Amino acid sequence: MPDSSIITVGNELLSGFTQDANSSWLAARLFARGYPVRRITIVGDVDSEIVTAVREDLARRELARIFVCGGLGPTPDDRTYGALALALERRLHYDRPTGALMQGLMFSRGVAARRGTAELNAGNRRMATIPEGAAVLRNGPGMAPGLAFDLGGDRILFALPGPPHELQSIVEQLVLPRYLGGGTSPTVRELHYRLAPESAFHDVMRRLEAEYPDVSLGSYPQAQLGRLTIRATGIDADRVERAIEAVRAGVTAYQPG
Ligand code: ATP
Ligand code: MG
Repeated sequence: MPDSSIITVGNELLSGFTQDANSSWLAARLFARGYPVRRITIVGDVDSEIVTAVREDLARRELARIFVCGGLGPTPDDRTYGALALALERRLHYDRPTGALMQGLMFSRGVAARRGTAELNAGNRRMATIPEGAAVLRNGPGMAPGLAFDLGGDRILFALPGPPHELQSIVEQLVLPRYLGGGTSPTVRELHYRLAPESAFHDVMRRLEAEYPDVSLGSYPQAQLGRLTIRATGIDADRVERAIEAVRAGVTAYQPG
């Protein structure tokens, strides 16, 4: 089963000014596609931090898809292309087709008229200066393109823009159809209880953990709502079904809704 990982980049995420929406959104899609996320790392806009995080994930051979999100833009705090060049040991080069595409966008979006020139400024050129050997993923709503690096052995590393609507658009239009075909969608089964204490599930869940090592079993209370969800996930639909039915049968003091 192919696994994946996510690295989100941004000082604003670490300081709590912005809540990381990209990793949870992406993790849900990757889970459903059969590329479950094994770890999510948040790092600041610091070259060495990005490089270290990328190298650590590269060293984990089970990670078939690695997503680096944010920091592709035109300002000096956007460091992802440069950090990826370091981590992957590839030279940065000015990508002419990307530059030309940006110039076209500057006309169609009225930027050239407002600025009185179609010349790309330093910030624009920065967004077209990317590591060698990457496939460019066109950013429909934005400017800075996403990138896909074929690492060999069916491993791919992606760079995606930070603004959530840009990231989502590239993932839905390009990444899901082109790069996430090989996974097996897991089966998910849930039981929903009202006013059941988690402790009532301890013994049965402990037993089932040993009996069903291939099924992930979790208990998720929402205390304010007086609700408790027991969720089982796994690749073998029959095993997931049997595990969740064993929970139902094993806790007789409470009945799920
Ligand atoms: P841009 O070209 O817009 O600069 P970028 O790829 O450089 O894109 P960032 O500069 O990292 O992206 O972030 C752009 C905007 O998107 C910021 O407002 C940032 O807070 C927001 N953003 C970045 N990452 C995330 C995230 N993980 N969750 C939610 N918002 C994010
Ligand atoms: Mg930016």
